[in-house]
Amino acid sequence: MIVKEYVKQRKEEIKNLVLAMPKKPCIAIVQVNEDAGSNAYVKGKLKDAAELGIQADLIKLPLDISQEELLKVIDELNNDDIHDGFIVQMPLPKQIDEETIKLAVSPKKDVDGFHPLSSLSPCTPKGIMNYLHHEGIQILGKNAVVIGRSNIVGKPMAKLLLKESANVTVLHSKTSFEDMSRYIANADIIIIAIGRQHFLDNKFQYKESAVIIDVGISRDETGLHGDALPDLPVKLQTPVPGGVGLLTRLALYENLLEIVSKK
Ligand code: NAP
Repeated sequence: MIVKEYVKQRKEEIKNLVLAMPKKPCIAIVQVNEDAGSNAYVKGKLKDAAELGIQADLIKLPLDISQEELLKVIDELNNDDIHDGFIVQMPLPKQIDEETIKLAVSPKKDVDGFHPLSSLSPCTPKGIMNYLHHEGIQILGKNAVVIGRSNIVGKPMAKLLLKESANVTVLHSKTSFEDMSRYIANADIIIIAIGRQHFLDNKFQYKESAVIIDVGISRDETGLHGDALPDLPVKLQTPVPGGVGLLTRLALYENLLEIVSKK
């Protein structure tokens, strides 16, 4: 099933779960940024919440807010009884250290799953795993190649695949072209998250039965592009746009519901 249809179906299921709850789940979104990307992400998250019947409060803070003031807002959110979870939309202005902020969010309310003590997985890898499961993609014993090793995508992705007994290889900017070609040619599942437009193209060979999950997003005047050239000769390839971005948005609310279900 294409990602869009899967997300639509899962949203319907979540909406019904929420309807049956005695209290509406409630999330706060803290935004300290005004760039086009952040505005689009926040708008998308608010739209999803409305569709799912989840209460979402947008807390917009001034661009010149100090780290101490932001930490105060986080402390209040950590301790209030209103919000089941909250996120701080990244990136943050220069005067604020993102790692300090990620660590300040209580693991109990960390819907993004960024805190090392959080029991939840970060949304992008979680959304991808849910989709692979839904599509019946075998993971156990399969060769999974993760390209990119960021803390929010590559590393947690590799961890989740390993947990399900894939043979996981993580590649990065220091991987030689020869090694990259060899691993890709032998891969059953390729997850690419590097932000290099159409890096995966016909210069590489792929298994016909391979699955490519394209996380990358590059913007230019013609729109959004992924890390993989569309329509590569594989069994399944997620598009950009209309792919991992939607899975990530969905996983945010899957995480919120997981927090609520543990209360
Ligand atoms: P990041 O922090 O930007 O790091 C990029 C990673 O790619 C690094 O590990 C880097 O290797 C690797 N890399 C860069 N150039 C490479 C090359 N030529 N060959 C192999 N590896 C290379 O990563 P990120 O935050 O995970 O974001 C990656 C992309 O995914 C971005 O386009 C981002 O916008 C997108 N993204 C999309 C979603 C979504 O929901 N769709 C969510 C998150 C991110 P080194 O470690 O060696 O430097």
